[in-house]
Amino acid sequence: MQVPGFSRGYLTQRHHATVLMAAPGNLCRLTATIVRQGKQPAATYAVRTLIVSGEKLPTRQRSYLASAWQATVISLYGAAETDSLAIECRQCHAHKLLSDYFFFERLCGDEAQSLPLHPRTALSGELVVTILYRQGTPLIRYRLGDMVRVLSACDFCHHLSLPTLHIIGRVIPSVTLSDGTKLYSYQVERALERAISGPFCCQVTLTQEHGRARLHRVVFCEQVESGQEARLQEYLGEASLDLADALRAGVVASIEVVCKNLAALPLNQSGKVVTLSDHQTDR
Ligand SMILES: [Zn+2]
Repeated sequence: MQVPGFSRGYLTQRHHATVLMAAPGNLCRLTATIVRQGKQPAATYAVRTLIVSGEKLPTRQRSYLASAWQATVISLYGAAETDSLAIECRQCHAHKLLSDYFFFERLCGDEAQSLPLHPRTALSGELVVTILYRQGTPLIRYRLGDMVRVLSACDFCHHLSLPTLHIIGRVIPSVTLSDGTKLYSYQVERALERAISGPFCCQVTLTQEHGRARLHRVVFCEQVESGQEARLQEYLGEASLDLADALRAGVVASIEVVCKNLAALPLNQSGKVVTLSDHQTDR
C-alpha cells in the first residue's frame, strides 16, 4: 500500500536501505521515476542489492536495473504456494531447481499429459510442481502457469546436479480470439524484443467491435522514439503464426500500439504488471 508522503523512494533514502526487493516491473518503474526526477539511483541511494521475484526478469531489465543502481541483481523463482523452487546461478542466471524438495513435471503440447522433468532433455513445456517435504499432508500438484525450458548447466554451476531451467514466460493469463487462437504474454514479449533495444513492459487489452477483435497494446519503455509505435505494430502482428493468420482472416480487426515511459507503468495491488486482459463482451 502506498502511504502519501512515504513513497518507497523516500523510505529507501531515509533509512539508508541497502537491499530492495520487489517484482522486476515494479523496480523498473521506480528506477524510471527516479531518473525522470533528474536523479541517478546509484548516486542517490545506498542500495547495493536488488532482489526480484514474482515475475520473469528479462535480460534487458536485469541490465537496466544493475546499471542504474550499480547493484547486484538476484532473481528468485518460486510461488506463494510453494516458497522458493530454485536458486539462481550467478554466472549464467539460469535457475537450478531444488529437486530434493519438489517433484517437477512438464505439461506436453496438448496439456492432457505431463512428464517428469528430465535434467538432460532440453524440451519446453509448462511447469507443474508437487511439494515433497510437507510430511503428513496430501500431495498437491501446482500448475504455476510458467513456460520453461531445460538447459545445459554452465561451467560455473555444472557441479550442482540439479536441473537447470530457463523461464520463458507466462502462459497464464492468455487471451483467446473467436477462432480459438490463443495469445500468450511471452509471445508478445518475444515479438517486442526484436523491435525495442532497452527494457520494456507491455500490457495487452483485447476488446471487441462488430464481432471482430481489437488488440490494444501499451508498451512502456525507457525512451519513446519517433516512428516506434508503427514499427511495433508491425512486429506485434508477427507475435505468433496463429495471430498472423487471424489478422489475415479478419478475426482481428486491428492492432493499436501506444508507447509510454516506464515511469507510467500501472501495477496491480500486488505490485505486479497486468500483462493481458480480455474485455471481449461476447464470443
Ligand atoms: Zn550457471
